[in-house]
Amino acid sequence: MMTKRCGYVTIVGKPNVGKSTLLNNIAQKKISIVTHKAQTTRKNVKLIRNIGDNQIIFTDTPGVETSVKSNLGKHLNKTSYMSTFDADIIIFMTSYNKWNKNDEVVLKNIKESGLPTILVINKIDRLKKRDDVLPVINMIRKKHDFIEIIPMSALREQEISKFLTIITDHLPQQAPLIENESLYQPNDSFIITERVREHILKNVHQEIPYETTVQVEKIEDEETIKKVHVVIWVNTDGQKRILIGKKGSVLKIIGTNTRLDLEKYFEKKIHIKLWVKIKNDWWNNEDFIERTEV
Ligand code: GDP
Ligand code: MG
Repeated sequence: MMTKRCGYVTIVGKPNVGKSTLLNNIAQKKISIVTHKAQTTRKNVKLIRNIGDNQIIFTDTPGVETSVKSNLGKHLNKTSYMSTFDADIIIFMTSYNKWNKNDEVVLKNIKESGLPTILVINKIDRLKKRDDVLPVINMIRKKHDFIEIIPMSALREQEISKFLTIITDHLPQQAPLIENESLYQPNDSFIITERVREHILKNVHQEIPYETTVQVEKIEDEETIKKVHVVIWVNTDGQKRILIGKKGSVLKIIGTNTRLDLEKYFEKKIHIKLWVKIKNDWWNNEDFIERTEV
């Protein structure tokens, strides 16, 4: 008899390690038709991926992602946060090059949850040799008993399918819990952030897309129009100038193309405001972490 596997998976990690990129790349081809009905489930489903007879249900960590005002550390230390780790497996994502105290905070909470955890060390496409990740693996594996350690690049399709196969193997044996995947849709902020990022990638070159983070500040839903306010955070004044372009030309293209995509997606008129702001070394900045998603 074929054993089917299905379960809930939550991806956690400090900002900028690639969580959204991974989810987006997992979702890209799957979520093409969505309904606009908000689902009220016990768990906040972000994305469902069927692989053969198996099903992976990715869930949000609502305690973190919706509470943009609270400090990451404080927030993660709250016991209430632990209940949001309501998953069969946790994916703990970090980047090969920037382990710091924010990773430690996330790991502490993982330990407290007692849930089986897979460590993903992301962005290894930036390494000259794949083996260069070995010292990082050795450093982190001493900190916790992970059920699996996966060095990968969330940008590479091939590695994503390998990743999906590995996590499926760790899910409970049961038939798919959710039948109609088209009933579920990722939240609006996620869709908006990813579309903006896509058009940054398409319109500016060099390393800039990797040094930016996109944050939805506000969404105003009106009857016939959705108004979105988005901040693109960069590190330097030079990056800001490139992103804005001559007389705002680059930012305008990014904004227009994002708007067109979002209008198709939401089947609604979209009004989009984009700001480019500088935040030096924002990934280490506590103030910044207070204001962004995890
Ligand atoms: P999140 O804050 O954890 O959701 O991280 P994001 O998905 O927003 O990614 C942060 C930045 O890292 C973005 O600029 C991504 O394009 C970049 N990024 C994500 N995954 C990879 C990867 O595998 N390789 C490289 N080189 N960059 C990545
Ligand atoms: Mg994200």
